Order: sequence, then C-alpha cells, then structure tokens
Amino acid sequence: MRVFITGASSGIGKGIAQHLAPDHEVIISDCSAAAIKQAQQDLKRQGCHVEAQVFDVCDATDLAQLRKMADENRIDVLINNAGIQYVKPLEEFPPEKWQQLINVMLVGPAMTTRAVLPAMKANNFGRIINIGSVHSLVASAYKSAYVAAKHGLLGLAKTVALEVAAANITINTLCPGYVDTDMVRDQIKQQAEAHQIPESTVINDIMLKSMPKKEFIEISELAGTVAFLMGPYAKNITAQAITLDGGWTAR
Ligand code: NAD
Repeated sequence: MRVFITGASSGIGKGIAQHLAPDHEVIISDCSAAAIKQAQQDLKRQGCHVEAQVFDVCDATDLAQLRKMADENRIDVLINNAGIQYVKPLEEFPPEKWQQLINVMLVGPAMTTRAVLPAMKANNFGRIINIGSVHSLVASAYKSAYVAAKHGLLGLAKTVALEVAAANITINTLCPGYVDTDMVRDQIKQQAEAHQIPESTVINDIMLKSMPKKEFIEISELAGTVAFLMGPYAKNITAQAITLDGGWTAR
C-alpha cells in the first residue's frame, strides 16, 4: 500500500514509517525540511527506504500538492500524526498559540483528509488513521488547546466515517497515553525545571501516575495497531477511538 504520514521526522510518525517500510511504499512528510531529510537518512541507515516530502499540514499550497499526488499516484493510507504541545493555564495561553495547536492537530487533519478522499473514493479503498491521544477522551489541566484539538479529531473522524462508509474507506483515531518520544521528553524537562524536581519524579509521580500499568506506551505498539487497521480484519472498524493507555481511562 502507499502510505502518507504527516509529522514523520521524529517520534511516533518516524517509528510507524520504520515499521511499515519493509512491506509498503511509505512517504514520510514534515514541515521541517532539514528534519525530514535527516529522518529519511536515518531510516535508510536502518535499511528502510522511504520517500520524503516537505509538507506543512497548515499550508494551502502543500495541501493542493497532496491532493494532486493522491489523484495522480494514489494514497491508500493517510496517517495524520503531526502534532505540537503547549502547556499553560487558559488565562495565560497566548491566543496565537491556542490557534496554532488547533490548526496543526484539527484543521490540518481535516484538510489532509479532504485532499485524499476524492482519490480514495475513486479507488474504492482508503484507510485514514489519526494519531489522537488519551486527551481525545479525558482532560489534563493546562492543556486546553491540545485537549480541544484531540477531542475534535474524534468528532471529525466519526463524521467523515459516516460520509465515506459506502466507499470502503475507514477512519479511526488511536488514543495513546504517554509515549516515550521527544515531545514527552521535552515536557519532562520543562516540568522538572518549573517545579525544581528531578525528572524521575515527573515521570513516576506525574506522568505514569495516570497510567495504572506504570509504563510508557512504545511506538511499536502504535505501529502494530496501525498495521492491523490497514489489514483485512479491520475493514469494518471505523469511527472508533482505539485506546492504548495502560488503563488510564478506566477510572
Ligand atoms: P514529535 O514532536 O516527535 O513529532 C511531531 C512532529 O510533527 C514533529 O516532527 C514536528 O516537526 C511535526 N509538525 C509540527 N507541526 C507540523 C505542521 N504544521 N506540519 C507538519 N508537521 C508538523 O511528537 P510525537 O510524540 O511523535 O507526536 C506525534 C503525534 O502523537 C502527535 O499528534 C501527538 O499529539 C500524538 N501523541 C503523542 C503522545 C506522546 O506521549 N508522545 C501521546 C499521545 C499522542
């Protein structure tokens, strides 16, 4: 299958690309030109050959290019993974930051999905997988824009699933708890500095406190779930939140 992944120069997107590359034609994309080139080289060193493209999920020209690529050369699977985080009480949250998070993690995925749907419908096949979050289902203080965007992503997927059900297109949202990536490592560092506590305290007493299994989700667990959703046994799984959270949302 031909798979397009957004925000794939690091973390979860890059890991999914690595997992899928042996069996699929994978296009990694990211808004950072230098980072996506580096990721392509890293993957090549690991024996994974992928195409790389500079692609900003908020850029109208890039979105038009994606539409063209899908129309001319098929995209079977779209993985909406690009994301950013910003943590502040709402009263202190810069309005432009709030807007940026919504643009990258809600408007962006809506527009990438919009760009690939005509080709998927014409091919009578499509798998769209959004990387949501446990924050698509529950909230954490000081993450209002992130939580709003990730909740919105679920609503988007449910709606589109109904619109495209007749065309053998599914759209689902993975909802992981904390995954050990740069995004989380940055948060750990910032929290440790802000509260003058060791990073191990942030990990064990703040982050993993929410996760009864007391371990970070591994990128390979997400990649394996993506592969399952692409496969034949998942053809009737659509509009779902698929939660990998070590038990977080059980209470
Ligand atoms: P990451 O920071 O390693 O990767 C995010 C990528 O998105 C970066 O490469 C960044 O350059 C890219 N990006 C940012 N803005 C973009 C834009 N406008 N256009 C294209 N690319 C853009 O973080 P990650 O942890 O791998 O996160 C990937 C996804 O997983 C995000 O949507 C995140 O919200 C979600 N997620 C992460 C965790 C976690 O604990 N790490 C948990 C739940 C959900």
